[in-house]
Amino acid sequence: SALAVGAFGLTAAHAQSVTQPSVHQISSKKTTIAFLLPENSSPRYEQVDRPWFIKMAHAADPNAKLIVSNANSSPDTQLNQAESAISNGADVLVVDPVDGKAGAAIVNYAARNHVKVISYDRLIQDSKPDYYVSFDNTKVGELQGEYIAKHTKPGGSVMMINGAPTDPNAFDFRKGAMNVLGPLFKSGKLHLAYSVMTPDWSPQNAFEESQQALTRLHNKVNAVLAANDGTASGVIRALQAVGLAGKVPVTGQDATNGGLTFILEGLQSMTVFKYVPEEAAAAAELAVAVATDTKPPAGLLNGKTNNKMIDVPSVLLKPLVVTKANIAGSVIKSGYTTWKAICVGP
Ligand code: BGC
Repeated sequence: SALAVGAFGLTAAHAQSVTQPSVHQISSKKTTIAFLLPENSSPRYEQVDRPWFIKMAHAADPNAKLIVSNANSSPDTQLNQAESAISNGADVLVVDPVDGKAGAAIVNYAARNHVKVISYDRLIQDSKPDYYVSFDNTKVGELQGEYIAKHTKPGGSVMMINGAPTDPNAFDFRKGAMNVLGPLFKSGKLHLAYSVMTPDWSPQNAFEESQQALTRLHNKVNAVLAANDGTASGVIRALQAVGLAGKVPVTGQDATNGGLTFILEGLQSMTVFKYVPEEAAAAAELAVAVATDTKPPAGLLNGKTNNKMIDVPSVLLKPLVVTKANIAGSVIKSGYTTWKAICVGP
């Protein structure tokens, strides 16, 4: 489907509110914002989230001091990083939790120290974060499920390589996929042959899970729903080993350069593109707003998301399917990546 012009990149109004902070936001005290990233299984955090968040936070408040860390998949490390950010003067934490449940300890610790928390991309459970910024994660799963539904022959066996059990998004992705595929599994139109979750979203774990599944199923697999591009890369390695790579549809998510290269090579079928610069911009704007006790820009918040304790006011952005057919009009046109970065090899 054609990409509407302006669907990506900051809209004019949005860009203006980011780059021209209102004079009322000027406070005498220097604002310190901490940005806590979860892991390195996916390249998005260091390659996209980090630089864009820094850029957008400085656009919203040129004097803001930033503390950025990555917990490398350890919830304990992340709690330490939150504590150290607070002792270094953070007024607000923007946290992408390693573990959605363990993240509650960070929110509670911050509250005791009068520090606000914005839950970034993954929703921190059972606690009271001030805001949540993410994509419509159920929709992400639905887009993956729809792709599988459309491209798998009737009676085909589907393997599901889901995300990490510590990541609440992984359950939303799976739920979305099942919204579409569940009825087909029930009616017998498709067969759910294998479903597993992937600790730490590790591509290596996804590879080993896929090998086990293929062995168990005697290679009778007609489609693989992989939750993101990292897990898809593990799936593809396992499919290559049995001569199935490029022969069965494989989904993904994140529009990573690696995933897009696989799509160009015909080894991965689709990815779900989430325009992270817009997510970073929304989080940066909210961070500056809470740190300066000002109201968030009108129109920024567009929903509420329940985290088992409260309905967290949310910004939920829209994901988009990318296949070979619309790479040019989506990830390239928006400047998210370049042909040079995704065309590798001869
Ligand atoms: C994010 C995905 C990412 C995954 C693994 C999820 O919470 O929404 O974009 O691929 O974590 O890092």
